[in-house]
Amino acid sequence: MTPARSARGRGAGQAAPAAGGPVLRIDGLVVELPGPRGPKVRVVDGVSFDVPRATTVGLIGESGSGKTMTARAVLGLAPEGATLAGRLLWHGEDLLTAGPARLRAVRGREIAMIFQDPLAALNPTQRIGRQVGEVPRRDRLPRAEVDRRVAELLDRAGVPEPRRRMRAYPHELSGGLRQRAMIAMALAGNPALLLADEPTTALDVTVQSRILSLLAGIQAADGLAMLLISHDLRVVSHVAEQVVVMYAGRSCERGPARDVLRRPAHPYTAALVRGVPAVRTRSALADPLPGAPATPANRPAGCAFHPRCPLARDRCRGEAPAVRETAPGRWSACHFAEEVLGL
Ligand code: SF4
Repeated sequence: MTPARSARGRGAGQAAPAAGGPVLRIDGLVVELPGPRGPKVRVVDGVSFDVPRATTVGLIGESGSGKTMTARAVLGLAPEGATLAGRLLWHGEDLLTAGPARLRAVRGREIAMIFQDPLAALNPTQRIGRQVGEVPRRDRLPRAEVDRRVAELLDRAGVPEPRRRMRAYPHELSGGLRQRAMIAMALAGNPALLLADEPTTALDVTVQSRILSLLAGIQAADGLAMLLISHDLRVVSHVAEQVVVMYAGRSCERGPARDVLRRPAHPYTAALVRGVPAVRTRSALADPLPGAPATPANRPAGCAFHPRCPLARDRCRGEAPAVRETAPGRWSACHFAEEVLGL
Protein backbone atom coordinates (compact mmCIF):
# COMPACT_ATOMS: atom_id res chain seq x y z
CA MET A 1 0.00 0.00 0.00
CA THR A 2 1.04 3.62 -0.40
CA PRO A 3 0.52 5.61 2.76
CA ALA A 4 -0.14 9.21 1.75
CA ARG A 5 0.51 11.60 4.59
CA SER A 6 -2.50 13.48 5.74
CA ALA A 7 -2.23 17.23 5.92
CA ARG A 8 -3.28 16.85 9.53
CA GLY A 9 -0.84 14.03 10.35
CA ARG A 10 1.60 14.61 13.19
CA GLY A 11 3.98 11.80 12.26
CA ALA A 12 5.43 8.91 14.19
CA GLY A 13 6.92 11.02 16.92
CA GLN A 14 3.65 12.53 18.02
CA ALA A 15 2.71 12.88 21.66
CA ALA A 16 0.85 10.04 23.32
CA PRO A 17 -2.85 10.66 23.96
CA ALA A 18 -4.15 11.48 27.40
CA ALA A 19 -4.35 8.53 29.80
CA GLY A 20 -7.71 6.83 29.53
CA GLY A 21 -8.04 7.81 25.84
CA PRO A 22 -8.89 5.33 23.10
CA VAL A 23 -6.43 2.58 22.20
CA LEU A 24 -7.22 3.26 18.55
CA ARG A 25 -8.40 6.48 16.98
CA ILE A 26 -9.33 6.36 13.30
CA ASP A 27 -9.33 9.94 12.12
CA GLY A 28 -10.53 10.89 8.63
CA LEU A 29 -9.34 7.61 7.09
CA VAL A 30 -9.38 7.57 3.29
CA VAL A 31 -8.54 4.46 1.24
CA GLU A 32 -8.42 4.64 -2.54
CA LEU A 33 -7.95 1.61 -4.79
CA PRO A 34 -6.95 1.58 -8.44
CA GLY A 35 -10.13 1.51 -10.57
CA PRO A 36 -10.56 -1.31 -13.09
CA ARG A 37 -10.53 1.14 -16.00
CA GLY A 38 -9.17 4.47 -14.87
CA PRO A 39 -9.41 6.71 -11.82
CA LYS A 40 -8.99 5.47 -8.30
CA VAL A 41 -12.06 4.46 -6.36
CA ARG A 42 -12.45 5.85 -2.86
CA VAL A 43 -13.62 2.79 -0.93
CA VAL A 44 -13.26 4.41 2.52
CA ASP A 45 -14.09 8.10 2.60
CA GLY A 46 -13.20 10.12 5.68
CA VAL A 47 -14.15 7.57 8.33
CA SER A 48 -13.55 8.58 11.97
CA PHE A 49 -14.22 6.75 15.23
CA ASP A 50 -12.52 5.65 18.45
CA VAL A 51 -12.04 2.20 19.91
CA PRO A 52 -11.79 2.74 23.69
CA ARG A 53 -9.84 0.29 25.83
CA ALA A 54 -11.76 -2.74 27.16
CA THR A 55 -14.68 -1.94 24.86
CA THR A 56 -16.28 -3.73 21.93
CA VAL A 57 -17.10 -1.50 18.97
CA GLY A 58 -19.39 -3.01 16.32
CA LEU A 59 -18.72 -1.90 12.75
CA ILE A 60 -21.82 -2.66 10.70
CA GLY A 61 -23.08 -2.13 7.17
CA GLU A 62 -23.94 -4.07 4.05
CA SER A 63 -21.37 -5.86 1.94
CA GLY A 64 -19.09 -3.35 0.14
CA SER A 65 -19.63 -0.57 2.67
CA GLY A 66 -15.91 -0.39 3.50
CA LYS A 67 -15.92 -2.17 6.88
CA THR A 68 -13.26 -4.76 6.09
CA MET A 69 -11.07 -2.28 4.22
CA THR A 70 -11.11 -0.02 7.29
CA ALA A 71 -9.88 -2.87 9.50
CA ARG A 72 -7.28 -4.00 6.97
CA ALA A 73 -5.94 -0.45 6.74
CA VAL A 74 -5.34 -0.48 10.51
CA LEU A 75 -3.11 -3.53 10.11
CA GLY A 76 -1.33 -2.23 7.01
CA LEU A 77 -3.05 -4.93 4.96
CA ALA A 78 -4.71 -2.73 2.32
CA PRO A 79 -4.27 -4.17 -1.20
CA GLU A 80 -1.22 -3.43 -3.34
CA GLY A 81 -1.60 -0.04 -5.05
CA ALA A 82 -3.94 1.38 -2.39
CA THR A 83 -3.46 5.01 -1.32
CA LEU A 84 -4.25 5.89 2.29
CA ALA A 85 -4.73 9.23 4.03
CA GLY A 86 -5.93 10.44 7.42
CA ARG A 87 -4.59 9.12 10.71
CA LEU A 88 -4.63 5.72 12.42
CA LEU A 89 -3.56 6.54 15.95
CA TRP A 90 -2.52 3.46 17.92
CA HIS A 91 -1.90 4.65 21.49
CA GLY A 92 -1.14 8.00 19.83
CA GLU A 93 1.31 6.61 17.26
CA ASP A 94 0.21 7.10 13.64
CA LEU A 95 0.37 3.67 12.01
CA LEU A 96 -0.12 5.31 8.62
CA THR A 97 3.36 6.78 8.85
CA ALA A 98 4.94 3.76 10.56
CA GLY A 99 7.50 1.73 8.61
CA PRO A 100 7.04 -1.92 7.58
CA ALA A 101 9.11 -3.22 10.53
CA ARG A 102 6.97 -1.37 13.05
CA LEU A 103 3.77 -2.54 11.34
CA ARG A 104 4.99 -6.14 11.45
CA ALA A 105 5.69 -5.75 15.16
CA VAL A 106 2.21 -4.34 15.80
CA ARG A 107 0.46 -6.97 13.69
CA GLY A 108 -0.26 -10.14 15.62
CA ARG A 109 1.35 -8.81 18.79
CA GLU A 110 -0.42 -5.60 19.74
CA ILE A 111 -3.31 -5.88 17.28
CA ALA A 112 -4.56 -9.26 16.09
CA MET A 113 -7.18 -10.10 13.49
CA ILE A 114 -9.68 -12.94 13.27
CA PHE A 115 -10.77 -13.48 9.69
CA GLN A 116 -14.15 -14.44 8.33
CA ASP A 117 -13.06 -17.69 6.72
CA PRO A 118 -10.60 -19.67 8.85
CA LEU A 119 -10.14 -22.26 6.12
CA ALA A 120 -8.79 -19.54 3.82
CA ALA A 121 -6.78 -17.83 6.57
CA LEU A 122 -5.14 -20.98 7.96
CA ASN A 123 -2.33 -22.68 6.06
CA PRO A 124 -3.78 -26.00 4.80
CA THR A 125 -0.34 -27.65 4.73
CA GLN A 126 0.60 -26.93 8.35
CA ARG A 127 -0.69 -28.58 11.50
CA ILE A 128 -2.77 -26.39 13.83
CA GLY A 129 -0.11 -26.53 16.56
CA ARG A 130 2.55 -25.14 14.26
CA GLN A 131 0.31 -22.23 13.20
CA VAL A 132 -0.85 -21.34 16.70
CA GLY A 133 2.78 -21.65 17.86
CA GLU A 134 4.11 -19.10 15.38
CA VAL A 135 4.21 -16.21 17.87
CA PRO A 136 5.51 -18.28 20.86
CA ARG A 137 8.28 -19.65 18.60
CA ARG A 138 9.37 -16.09 17.79
CA ASP A 139 10.17 -15.76 21.49
CA ARG A 140 12.70 -18.62 21.03
CA LEU A 141 11.11 -20.70 23.77
CA PRO A 142 12.11 -24.37 24.08
CA ARG A 143 9.91 -26.75 22.05
CA ALA A 144 8.16 -28.20 25.12
CA GLU A 145 7.34 -24.72 26.36
CA VAL A 146 5.95 -23.71 22.93
CA ASP A 147 3.76 -26.87 22.94
CA ARG A 148 2.55 -26.11 26.46
CA ARG A 149 1.68 -22.55 25.45
CA VAL A 150 -0.12 -23.72 22.27
CA ALA A 151 -2.19 -26.27 24.23
CA GLU A 152 -3.05 -23.56 26.75
CA LEU A 153 -4.15 -21.15 23.97
CA LEU A 154 -6.29 -23.81 22.26
CA ASP A 155 -7.84 -24.73 25.59
CA ARG A 156 -8.61 -21.06 26.27
CA ALA A 157 -10.28 -20.81 22.87
CA GLY A 158 -12.49 -23.77 23.83
CA VAL A 159 -10.82 -26.46 21.68
CA PRO A 160 -11.37 -29.82 23.42
CA GLU A 161 -8.41 -32.22 23.66
CA PRO A 162 -5.96 -29.48 22.64
CA ARG A 163 -2.89 -31.75 22.64
CA ARG A 164 -4.58 -34.02 20.08
CA ARG A 165 -5.97 -31.12 18.01
CA MET A 166 -2.49 -29.55 17.78
CA ARG A 167 -1.51 -32.42 15.47
CA ALA A 168 -4.52 -31.96 13.15
CA TYR A 169 -4.53 -30.14 9.82
CA PRO A 170 -7.19 -27.42 9.30
CA HIS A 171 -9.34 -29.61 7.02
CA GLU A 172 -9.58 -32.22 9.78
CA LEU A 173 -11.42 -29.79 12.08
CA SER A 174 -15.04 -28.62 11.99
CA GLY A 175 -15.77 -24.98 11.04
CA GLY A 176 -16.33 -24.07 14.68
CA LEU A 177 -13.03 -25.64 15.79
CA ARG A 178 -11.14 -23.93 12.99
CA GLN A 179 -12.55 -20.58 14.12
CA ARG A 180 -11.50 -21.41 17.70
CA ALA A 181 -7.99 -22.23 16.41
CA MET A 182 -7.93 -18.80 14.71
CA ILE A 183 -8.93 -17.20 18.00
CA ALA A 184 -6.09 -19.09 19.74
CA MET A 185 -3.66 -17.75 17.11
CA ALA A 186 -4.98 -14.23 17.63
CA LEU A 187 -4.51 -14.47 21.41
CA ALA A 188 -0.96 -15.82 21.12
CA GLY A 189 0.64 -12.37 21.15
CA ASN A 190 -1.46 -11.05 24.07
CA PRO A 191 -2.92 -8.30 21.85
CA ALA A 192 -4.53 -5.16 23.23
CA LEU A 193 -6.96 -4.98 20.29
CA LEU A 194 -8.75 -7.74 18.45
CA LEU A 195 -10.13 -7.04 14.97
CA ALA A 196 -12.80 -9.67 14.33
CA ASP A 197 -14.04 -9.63 10.73
CA GLU A 198 -17.38 -11.46 10.45
CA PRO A 199 -16.02 -14.12 12.84
CA THR A 200 -19.22 -16.16 12.91
CA THR A 201 -20.66 -15.68 9.42
CA ALA A 202 -19.69 -19.13 8.13
CA LEU A 203 -20.98 -20.96 11.21
CA ASP A 204 -24.39 -22.32 12.11
CA VAL A 205 -26.45 -20.39 14.63
CA THR A 206 -25.61 -22.52 17.69
CA VAL A 207 -21.87 -22.41 17.02
CA GLN A 208 -22.15 -18.66 16.26
CA SER A 209 -23.53 -17.94 19.66
CA ARG A 210 -20.86 -20.06 21.39
CA ILE A 211 -18.07 -18.26 19.52
CA LEU A 212 -19.59 -14.87 20.35
CA SER A 213 -19.83 -15.82 24.03
CA LEU A 214 -16.22 -16.99 23.94
CA LEU A 215 -15.05 -13.71 22.40
CA ALA A 216 -17.10 -11.67 24.87
CA GLY A 217 -15.65 -13.68 27.79
CA ILE A 218 -12.06 -13.23 26.59
CA GLN A 219 -12.66 -9.54 25.89
CA ALA A 220 -13.99 -8.98 29.40
CA ALA A 221 -11.39 -11.14 31.19
CA ASP A 222 -8.39 -9.62 29.42
CA GLY A 223 -9.71 -6.06 29.18
CA LEU A 224 -9.22 -6.25 25.44
CA ALA A 225 -10.58 -3.72 23.01
CA MET A 226 -12.41 -5.37 20.12
CA LEU A 227 -13.55 -4.08 16.74
CA LEU A 228 -16.25 -6.48 15.61
CA ILE A 229 -17.06 -6.20 11.92
CA SER A 230 -20.38 -7.65 10.85
CA HIS A 231 -23.26 -7.19 8.44
CA ASP A 232 -25.45 -8.91 11.04
CA LEU A 233 -27.05 -6.51 13.47
CA ARG A 234 -28.05 -9.32 15.84
CA VAL A 235 -24.39 -10.27 16.28
CA VAL A 236 -23.38 -6.68 16.99
CA SER A 237 -26.34 -5.99 19.29
CA HIS A 238 -25.33 -8.95 21.49
CA VAL A 239 -21.77 -7.91 22.21
CA ALA A 240 -21.00 -4.31 21.21
CA GLU A 241 -21.05 -1.32 23.55
CA GLN A 242 -20.42 1.18 20.76
CA VAL A 243 -21.54 0.94 17.16
CA VAL A 244 -20.40 2.52 13.89
CA VAL A 245 -22.67 2.21 10.84
CA MET A 246 -21.09 2.43 7.39
CA TYR A 247 -22.70 3.03 4.02
CA ALA A 248 -20.91 3.30 0.64
CA GLY A 249 -17.51 3.84 2.27
CA ARG A 250 -18.67 6.49 4.74
CA SER A 251 -19.66 6.38 8.39
CA CYS A 252 -23.30 7.45 8.59
CA GLU A 253 -23.97 6.99 12.30
CA ARG A 254 -22.08 6.15 15.49
CA GLY A 255 -22.67 6.14 19.23
CA PRO A 256 -23.53 3.85 22.17
CA ALA A 257 -24.95 0.62 20.70
CA ARG A 258 -28.00 0.54 22.94
CA ASP A 259 -29.03 4.10 22.06
CA VAL A 260 -28.28 3.81 18.33
CA LEU A 261 -30.16 0.53 17.94
CA ARG A 262 -33.14 1.61 20.05
CA ARG A 263 -33.44 5.07 18.57
CA PRO A 264 -31.46 5.52 15.33
CA ALA A 265 -30.49 9.00 14.14
CA HIS A 266 -30.04 7.97 10.52
CA PRO A 267 -32.65 6.43 8.18
CA TYR A 268 -30.17 3.76 7.03
CA THR A 269 -29.61 2.53 10.60
CA ALA A 270 -33.37 2.62 11.15
CA ALA A 271 -33.84 0.42 8.07
CA LEU A 272 -31.17 -2.05 9.23
CA VAL A 273 -32.80 -2.25 12.65
CA ARG A 274 -36.25 -2.81 11.18
CA GLY A 275 -34.87 -5.76 9.23
CA VAL A 276 -34.04 -7.60 12.46
CA PRO A 277 -37.17 -8.41 14.48
CA ALA A 278 -35.13 -9.29 17.56
CA VAL A 279 -33.68 -5.76 17.72
CA ARG A 280 -36.28 -3.28 18.94
CA THR A 281 -36.65 0.26 17.63
CA ARG A 282 -39.09 3.08 18.20
CA SER A 283 -38.66 4.19 14.59
CA ALA A 284 -41.94 4.67 12.76
CA LEU A 285 -40.29 4.95 9.32
CA ALA A 286 -41.98 2.86 6.66
CA ASP A 287 -40.19 -0.38 5.73
CA PRO A 288 -38.62 -2.16 3.95
CA LEU A 289 -35.41 -0.71 2.49
CA PRO A 290 -35.86 -0.41 -1.30
CA GLY A 291 -33.16 -0.68 -3.97
CA ALA A 292 -29.59 -1.97 -3.99
CA PRO A 293 -26.81 -0.54 -1.80
CA ALA A 294 -24.74 2.25 -3.34
CA THR A 295 -21.14 1.27 -3.95
CA PRO A 296 -18.10 3.52 -3.56
CA ALA A 297 -17.52 3.20 -7.34
CA ASN A 298 -21.07 4.32 -8.04
CA ARG A 299 -21.82 6.69 -5.17
CA PRO A 300 -24.80 8.98 -5.84
CA ALA A 301 -24.22 12.74 -5.52
CA GLY A 302 -25.36 14.45 -2.33
CA CYS A 303 -26.27 11.96 0.38
CA ALA A 304 -25.23 8.52 -0.92
CA PHE A 305 -28.31 7.01 0.70
CA HIS A 306 -30.85 9.35 -0.94
CA PRO A 307 -32.12 6.97 -3.69
CA ARG A 308 -33.24 4.53 -0.96
CA CYS A 309 -34.20 6.96 1.75
CA PRO A 310 -37.89 7.43 2.59
CA LEU A 311 -37.15 10.92 3.96
CA ALA A 312 -35.05 12.17 1.01
CA ARG A 313 -35.80 15.64 -0.33
CA ASP A 314 -34.13 18.14 -2.65
CA ARG A 315 -31.36 19.11 -0.23
CA CYS A 316 -30.31 15.44 0.09
CA ARG A 317 -29.78 15.12 -3.66
CA GLY A 318 -27.52 18.17 -3.89
CA GLU A 319 -25.59 18.33 -0.62
CA ALA A 320 -23.61 15.55 1.09
CA PRO A 321 -24.43 15.67 4.83
CA ALA A 322 -21.54 16.23 7.24
CA VAL A 323 -21.13 13.92 10.23
CA ARG A 324 -22.30 15.96 13.23
CA GLU A 325 -22.99 15.38 16.90
CA THR A 326 -26.76 15.17 17.36
CA ALA A 327 -26.70 14.34 21.09
CA PRO A 328 -23.78 13.85 23.53
CA GLY A 329 -21.74 10.93 22.12
CA ARG A 330 -24.09 10.42 19.16
CA TRP A 331 -23.06 11.27 15.60
CA SER A 332 -25.10 11.16 12.42
CA ALA A 333 -24.54 12.07 8.77
CA CYS A 334 -28.12 13.01 7.98
CA HIS A 335 -29.41 16.53 7.28
CA PHE A 336 -32.56 15.63 9.19
CA ALA A 337 -31.16 13.52 12.04
CA GLU A 338 -33.26 15.33 14.66
CA GLU A 339 -36.37 14.51 12.67
CA VAL A 340 -35.34 10.82 12.47
CA LEU A 341 -34.70 10.77 16.23
CA GLY A 342 -38.19 12.16 16.82
CA LEU A 343 -39.98 9.49 14.77
FE1 SF4 B 1 -32.13 10.50 3.95
FE2 SF4 B 1 -31.54 13.01 3.35
FE3 SF4 B 1 -30.82 12.02 5.68
FE4 SF4 B 1 -29.61 11.22 3.46
S1 SF4 B 1 -29.56 13.27 4.34
S2 SF4 B 1 -30.28 9.93 5.10
S3 SF4 B 1 -31.31 11.20 2.03
S4 SF4 B 1 -32.92 12.34 4.97
